[in-house]
Amino acid sequence: MTKKYCMSFDINILLRDNIRLLKPYSSARDEFSGEAVAFLDANENPFNSPWNRYPDPRQVKLKTRVGEIKNVPVSKIFLGNGSDEPIDLLFRAFCEPGNDNVVSIHPTYGMYRVAADTNNVAVNLVPLSAEFELDADAVLNAVTANTKMIFLCSPNNPSGNALDNRAMLRIIENFNGIVVVDEAYIDFCPEKSFLPLLDQYPNLVILQTFSKAWGMAGLRLGMAFASEPIIDVLSRIKYPYNLSILTQQKGLELLADEQKKLDWVAIILKEREKMIANLNKYPFVVKVYPTDANFVLAKTHDPRGIYQFLVDEKIIVRDRSSIALCEGCLRISIGSPAENATLIEALDELI
Ligand SMILES: *Cc1c(COP(=O)(O)O)cnc(C)c1O
Repeated sequence: MTKKYCMSFDINILLRDNIRLLKPYSSARDEFSGEAVAFLDANENPFNSPWNRYPDPRQVKLKTRVGEIKNVPVSKIFLGNGSDEPIDLLFRAFCEPGNDNVVSIHPTYGMYRVAADTNNVAVNLVPLSAEFELDADAVLNAVTANTKMIFLCSPNNPSGNALDNRAMLRIIENFNGIVVVDEAYIDFCPEKSFLPLLDQYPNLVILQTFSKAWGMAGLRLGMAFASEPIIDVLSRIKYPYNLSILTQQKGLELLADEQKKLDWVAIILKEREKMIANLNKYPFVVKVYPTDANFVLAKTHDPRGIYQFLVDEKIIVRDRSSIALCEGCLRISIGSPAENATLIEALDELI
């Protein structure tokens, strides 16, 4: 039986002292955001409208649209320059450099480690099983008195599988710090999202992004969803104008067409099944791991040789074979039908 959530989460205990006491920068557009006859408050150039004006620091229009799509109130949404921004801000808000630590899994997304290193915060890594399954007890056992956050990634990169939701819940319910669940690939398996549970867990942070299924990696637009106290802190410490006018406008425009995203996902999922079937035919492929994302991890007999052969054919995949538990593995993104066919034609030459 899972212990009922004990509600001893207190953001003020977790926050670094300097962040708790921080008086945020108040921009001109924070102090006045209505209609005016003359904006003479921000030292902007009056010409070259609309690029001459600072963007909305609160991103009200874009957040409202995101809230509609995700069915989350605006007060529980943070938007950033990719999801890399909230990852870094979480470290800066909660982890005292040289003192605090975070717990994560292995293998997983490399940015947690980079953000931790940048902020001089230690990472305790808990290996997944050989089949990339999550051991909730092992993760909870890796927690020390100075552990402020636990990072989980589901579907996980580079393994591709969604982690077991019950195991993740056990971690969320039995840890008084922040649990970050990175759902960058959730559009490829929406039924597994934790977003509907957001209200139940004040220590839960869900990361999502417009970089993958939505096709906006070049815009740099990421999301964090969490309880209001956490979102308030991230909003207080972000760069005031972290999303440009261009990003906010283009994002809003592209978010108008949700059906397009669903259509793309349907194509990618169909192509994924074809890719898995094709890869499984090759004698040099030992195994294609189950995936819930828009990529597959394939264990091969000769990852470097295959990788180099493909580079010579001008086809780039990701060599993950030097990572523990990923020995022999290449990670292959599902591309367009034409790109996928090009890959398979090239691999056919290796038989
Ligand atoms: C691609 C990816 C992201 C997205 O990062 P952005 O900064 O939003 O582009 C986040 N988490 C994981 C695990 C990813 O693979």
